[in-house]
Amino acid sequence: MKKVLILGSGFAGIQAAIELQKQNKFEVTVISDRDYMYIYPISIWVPVQMIEFENVKVPLTDIQKKYPFNIIIDSVKEIHTFEQSVICEKQTLYYDYLIVAFGAEKMKHKGIENTLSICGKPEIAVSIRNQLTELIEQGHGKIAIGFGGNPKDKSDLVTKYRLCIFAEKKL
Ligand SMILES: Cc1cc2nc3c(=O)[nH]c(=O)nc-3n(C[C@H](O)[C@H](O)[C@H](O)COP(=O)(O)OP(=O)(O)OC[C@H]3O[C@@H](n4cnc5c(N)ncnc54)[C@H](O)[C@@H]3O)c2cc1C
Repeated sequence: MKKVLILGSGFAGIQAAIELQKQNKFEVTVISDRDYMYIYPISIWVPVQMIEFENVKVPLTDIQKKYPFNIIIDSVKEIHTFEQSVICEKQTLYYDYLIVAFGAEKMKHKGIENTLSICGKPEIAVSIRNQLTELIEQGHGKIAIGFGGNPKDKSDLVTKYRLCIFAEKKL
């Protein structure tokens, strides 16, 4: 069987794995640095304590029970297309077909080093929750929540809505 390596276990990687596994024509392997699929859309409720962080995660082994693809938990470091290999922290893997489904990691532009974004790594949702809790315990503070914009984009929408998150104690 031809080997398919899928890099990433978000919606894209897991859906690709399910569809290919159902065809029963490939040996499908998902490589991810997380052992769970993170459901970003419901993660917005973590900071306001409407859902527990653990309940936003779907363990990959649960999905694997229904769709028995291989799972490797490792961090991808390099992709070598001529050799058809992927170098991970712990091992090197070879493929016939490769699907890159890493998602979009936020760049940390200068000036936003101290902000927390719900669009970042899953654990950041917990950090936001902790900071909000501290603020509540403090009894006062300021919070501004909004969208970050690209400073090079001159459109009205972006300049109007360029906001950050501040907690008074951090200022
Ligand atoms: C707060 C929030 C709310 C959202 N709400 C909605 C919504 O309501 N509806 C909607 O359609 N979309 C929503 N989205 C967007 C949606 O969640 C994303 O489009 C989707 O998660 C992208 O899926 P993905 O598989 O491409 O990437 P991701 O979900 O980011 O997955 C990337 C995967 O790659 C892995 N990975 C990354 N780098 C490496 C590496 N070097 N080695 C190994 N593994 C690696 C990660 O561990 C992860 O498993 C929301 C996003 C956010 C942040």
